[in-house]
Amino acid sequence: MGGRDATMVLLDENGIRCDGRKVDEPRRIMIKAGGLKNADGSAYIEFGDNKILVGVFGPRDVHPKHMSNTDTGILRVRYHMEPFSVGERKNPAPSRREIEISKVIKEALEPAVMLDKFPRTAVDVFIEVLQADGGTRCAALTAASVALADAGIPMRDMVAAIAAGKVADTVILDVNNEEDQAGQADMPIGYMPNLEKITLLQLDGVLTPEEYKKCVQVGVEGCKLVYDLQKKALQDKYFGNGAG
Ligand code: UDP
Repeated sequence: MGGRDATMVLLDENGIRCDGRKVDEPRRIMIKAGGLKNADGSAYIEFGDNKILVGVFGPRDVHPKHMSNTDTGILRVRYHMEPFSVGERKNPAPSRREIEISKVIKEALEPAVMLDKFPRTAVDVFIEVLQADGGTRCAALTAASVALADAGIPMRDMVAAIAAGKVADTVILDVNNEEDQAGQADMPIGYMPNLEKITLLQLDGVLTPEEYKKCVQVGVEGCKLVYDLQKKALQDKYFGNGAG
């Protein structure tokens, strides 16, 4: 919730948002499984104007060896924004924000990945944000799940993610960059639809307990929509006409 622009109309009298969406309408989401020939698994996602590529490598040996765990595999995640991904050039060096988002995504994925099946090894997830427009952590988490599945990593479920939020005292689904900057709350949610478990929940802004519950409810329903698109991406690659 950055600098709030009081002049921006986030919700008009007909309940239409600044980008023409209804309150419960996600942005256009396109997910493609595969695409990177040098990765063990990969995925590309367009989530509104967010464009993100994910490559997965492993399970593979851990260097240095003392970082490995004899009982379980380890998951390593790097979330990185290209300098050109945002309007004002981003310094290519890892920022505190990128380090935090890498950790949050890793911890959101861990419950879904059967790391105990490959002890002493590591699975590396590289996330490249090519274009950012609010909600990159959710889009990246969604694509990372597909890339892990594409790599054949045994999983209990996939993690689907989307943000709920609040603008003009109204709960909305899928917060875009303007709504993030000028709105009242942004709540990214990661959810495993089959296990019915939330693995990521953050809140930036202010909500009443009732609004909080509604955001979780709206967010979980949104994650189920995202999950259908994750499955479709994998089906298109492995059973359909998708090349990759
Ligand atoms: N952003 C930016 N410059 C930065 C970092 C972020 O312009 O250095 C924008 C970008 O569009 C991003 C949005 O701010 O998607 C919201 O960032 P936030 O930290 O809330 O994470 P996100 O919503 O992307 O998960």
